[in-house]
Amino acid sequence: MIFAQIFDMVNVGIVILDKELKVYKWNRWMEIHSKISAQEIIGVTIFDFFPEMKNPRFLRNVKSVLTFGNFAFFSQKLHKYIFPFKASNSQGTHFKYMRQSCTMGPLRDENNRIQYVYIMVQDVTDVAAYEQKLIEMSIKDGLTGVYNRRFLESRLAEEFERHKRYLRPLSIIMQDIDFFKRINDTYSHPCGDYILKTFASLIVSTIRKVDIFARYGGEEFCCVLPETGLESATKLAEHLRMKVEDEIFRFNETEIKITVSQGVAELKKETVSAEELLRRADDALYEAKETGRNKVVGQCK
Ligand code: GH3
Ligand code: MG
Ligand code: MG
Repeated sequence: MIFAQIFDMVNVGIVILDKELKVYKWNRWMEIHSKISAQEIIGVTIFDFFPEMKNPRFLRNVKSVLTFGNFAFFSQKLHKYIFPFKASNSQGTHFKYMRQSCTMGPLRDENNRIQYVYIMVQDVTDVAAYEQKLIEMSIKDGLTGVYNRRFLESRLAEEFERHKRYLRPLSIIMQDIDFFKRINDTYSHPCGDYILKTFASLIVSTIRKVDIFARYGGEEFCCVLPETGLESATKLAEHLRMKVEDEIFRFNETEIKITVSQGVAELKKETVSAEELLRRADDALYEAKETGRNKVVGQCK
């Protein structure tokens, strides 16, 4: 009696299946989240209600529990969930399904023979949401929402190794907004922030999904372009330059125009490191600044 009350009170799902995988027990938590009553489901094979659970991984684990008395653990990181329940999304994330941490193990009779398998289900959606937020915060720039410099550098190092090994083209574009200090001085710092955000969105909307775009520093941005040689990268940079030049940035009724200078560099056989590639793009950018701004310089050396 007391145990039955606890069984229905705990803040975890408890399901007990018999050897034919028919539901033997289904606690209140499971009723609430599945919207299936114990009365409806008890005596019915679990797969009749949850056909997606009839997958090789689940079957393998159940078999191992019933045959050998092993325990199994399903982590939310690897498997996300066992039971497809709607997520509450309390942390503002948009998981379609509740993230679950589940354990599974044997239940034995008085003769120590395995008769049932239990599954315990814990809702860890909040933990998964916090984890996702932390990851986002560590790789993205807070103001513009694009990747940060640390993430760009680690990804560039990976791309560098990959492209060098397979001799695939790889280019980068370094960008620096022209006379940005003037924007802040003339229109205010919040206006400068707005321009940075809008500039970043404009670039993101133009480049490919495989390109890695990051805020490199204050008003400097960098774009890593896998599978792209110098000529295509320079063409893209020119296209971006014109797009920025044509854009009218509207902040509190004020219309503002900006331009951007860009340096392009391509990975060469003799390029020894990702840092060298960055340095070459930076040199090209410097040249673009020195020779008039609002232009693209491609560095071949
Ligand atoms: P140049 O054409 O030579 O690049 O001139 P510039 O004025 O763009 O270059 P400079 O490096 O002198 O100034 C960059 C300015 O960018 C100075 C700094 O206040 C501003 N800045 C850097 N980060 C931010 C930011 O997060 N928000 C705002 N509003 N301004 C920023
Ligand atoms: Mg700068
Ligand atoms: Mg600048």
